[in-house]
Order: sequence, then C-alpha cells, then structure tokens
Amino acid sequence: MKIRGEHVLAIEDHARGGYPDEVCGVLVGQSAAEVTVEAVVPVANRERDAPRVRYQVAPEDLLRIQRESRESRLDIVGFYHSHPEHPARPSETDRRMAAEGISDGVVHVVVSVDGAGRAAPSAWVFRDATQAFEEEPLAVVGRRREQEEDGCRSKS
Ligand SMILES: [Zn+2]
Repeated sequence: MKIRGEHVLAIEDHARGGYPDEVCGVLVGQSAAEVTVEAVVPVANRERDAPRVRYQVAPEDLLRIQRESRESRLDIVGFYHSHPEHPARPSETDRRMAAEGISDGVVHVVVSVDGAGRAAPSAWVFRDATQAFEEEPLAVVGRRREQEEDGCRSKS
C-alpha cells in the first residue's frame, strides 16, 4: 500500500497522544491494484472495558466517514490502531474481529507505541481465504521527519 509520510506521522502522533490506551482511525483512499491512502481520519476508541488492549470504531463514525469520502470520490480502504507496549502486528483479537466482518483485502495499519514515544507502524491485509493477515509492504511516499527513506538518501 502507498501512504504519504505525513499520514504515517499523523498515525504515530495519534498513537503517542492516546498512550497508554489504543487509538484508532480510518484510512480513506483508493483501492486499485494497490491501495493508496489519501487521508487518515482519527476516530474515538469506543471500547469501554479494555481500551488499553482493544479498540472499537462506532458505526456512526464509519457511516459519516464513508459519506464524506464519497464526496471526494474516495472510499474507506482500511483502518489503523495502536498497540501500546505491544508489537506492531495484529493480535488474535484483531484477527477474530476482521474475520467477523466483510474484510477481504481491507488494509490494517498497526502501530506499536511505548512510553518513551517510540512508534513503529506496519501494514497488513486480511484475506478471507486464509482467515489471516498477510504483511503488506508499506510504501511511504515523501519525506519523513527524523527517518531515512529508502532510495532517497545516499548512504555515507
Ligand atoms: Zn490490535
């Protein structure tokens, strides 16, 4: 999937701001041969019982974002959420939640975040056929703050 550096930063900042709870949001863009993220929309984590290890997106938030995306000829292509003090890969809960929905090809960005503010994103695609997530290469377009970008900076 393709995502701009500023959007990765927005996801990371959201994860830091919500620590130690999980934060979540919606990825809006286009899905042709490859998913391209055009906007990142943070939403409130509606999980009440265990917001440090779970997240829930309210259906009314989803509907609103879907309506707004269509006005710009875009669609919801995926979701992001944070894993405070946990690795940047989908948990068994994430897998189960994805398996319950209509989710083939939906992109999930999982960003790990710790108390020192370190954040690391990874991207995954859920496949109905295997009922599992596959890691998806995260192609970051544009410069990222404090981080090297492949092919953009000569190694010295
Ligand atoms: Zn998770």
